[in-house]
Amino acid sequence: MRIQAIRGVKDIMPDEIEKWRWVENKANQVFNRYGFNEIRLPIFEKTKLFSRGIGETTDIVEKEMYTFEDRSGEMVTLRPEGTASAVRAFIEHKMYTAQTVQKFYYLGPMFRYERPQAGRFRQFYQIGVEAMGSHNPSIDAEVMIMLLEFFNVIGLKQFELQINSLGCNKCRPEYRETLKKSITNHLVDLCENCNIRYQKNPLRVLDCKIERDIEIASGFPKITDYICNECKCHFEKVQSLLRETQIPYIINPNLVRGLDYYSHTAFEVTSRELGAQNAICGGGRYNTLVEEFGGPPTPCFGFALGLERLISLIPFNDIKSIEKNPDIFVVSLGEDAKSIVFNLVHQLRSGGLSVERDYEEGSMKSQMRKANKSASLFALIVGENEIKSGNYQLKNMRDGKQSSITAASCVEKIKTLINSKV
Ligand SMILES: [Zn+2]
Ligand SMILES: [Zn+2]
Repeated sequence: MRIQAIRGVKDIMPDEIEKWRWVENKANQVFNRYGFNEIRLPIFEKTKLFSRGIGETTDIVEKEMYTFEDRSGEMVTLRPEGTASAVRAFIEHKMYTAQTVQKFYYLGPMFRYERPQAGRFRQFYQIGVEAMGSHNPSIDAEVMIMLLEFFNVIGLKQFELQINSLGCNKCRPEYRETLKKSITNHLVDLCENCNIRYQKNPLRVLDCKIERDIEIASGFPKITDYICNECKCHFEKVQSLLRETQIPYIINPNLVRGLDYYSHTAFEVTSRELGAQNAICGGGRYNTLVEEFGGPPTPCFGFALGLERLISLIPFNDIKSIEKNPDIFVVSLGEDAKSIVFNLVHQLRSGGLSVERDYEEGSMKSQMRKANKSASLFALIVGENEIKSGNYQLKNMRDGKQSSITAASCVEKIKTLINSKV
């Protein structure tokens, strides 16, 4: 019986994982500089956390959640996104008592039951960032700037920051009605999905990815013409901060995000390599969610970033530091070498070197072939003659030069040699 992975999930193989680690480390470095530290949240939660947090009428909650009853009869769900858990943790650990903005990020798998298609996975990875506890437009600008800096650091090019204001609880309802009226006249021309959205959340019609609908939507009233003074001030301040720091952006009045909880600033970063419809990252302000979950009023700003897509866009050829070849490949020949090589490898590794060997203990030729394939810097040859003479052979795999190295001091010598190369 051969059991295969579940449809829509994939293994990240060892030869890919260096890229992942590299990107994760860069995220950590950049985010730390802005005062964001990692938080590890559970990957499953009570189902009602997501149905209430994300919104009962969203696609995620209606169709995409992995929900099951556990052995005690409780309904639990594999997290489809991270913000709901972040808000829960914020309240549960009384992080609001800190009196300063709480800034953290998380990283890990999310789960959505989506129709399998290229580049979409049912288990996918996200980096999420949340800043909780301030309504200051500086937070909006700073978090977006941090994101763009992260993109620069990882060598991503050709991206574009799009921003919009989604208004607030005071001004959005009026816009919603105005928009709904305008949509009414075009319902027959709009796609089936938009007809459903029109009923549940007309703003999402603006979000449709179908060419003809985009065309029609461009004629609808713009939210930025309807937001209240307070929202307008906030939005203008965010923009002036971006201009001040020379961050290019464009205003996209049709950018609404898929989730119900956003207000004020919403943003997406799109990549020209993926086409304008494809956001690599999106987020915005959510000022009421903490309160809805029973916490004190806490304005927040955050974003989430899909790692699969991001990693596919990075030109890793330019990045030397992700090479992960062993320093030394130990080649051993003969019975005496067998008893020596295990401890020798151990000592080299304990000395901080990365060491590979041939566990099959094949012929000289086959071991050298493996050494070549491993792309190690050196091969250390330990054969019968070498053991007798007390001198091992060290072969530089780049230029082919070979030299003798005293067995007793070989660990120290190789360490010095390799450290001088780095
Ligand atoms: Zn408003
Ligand atoms: Zn549509």
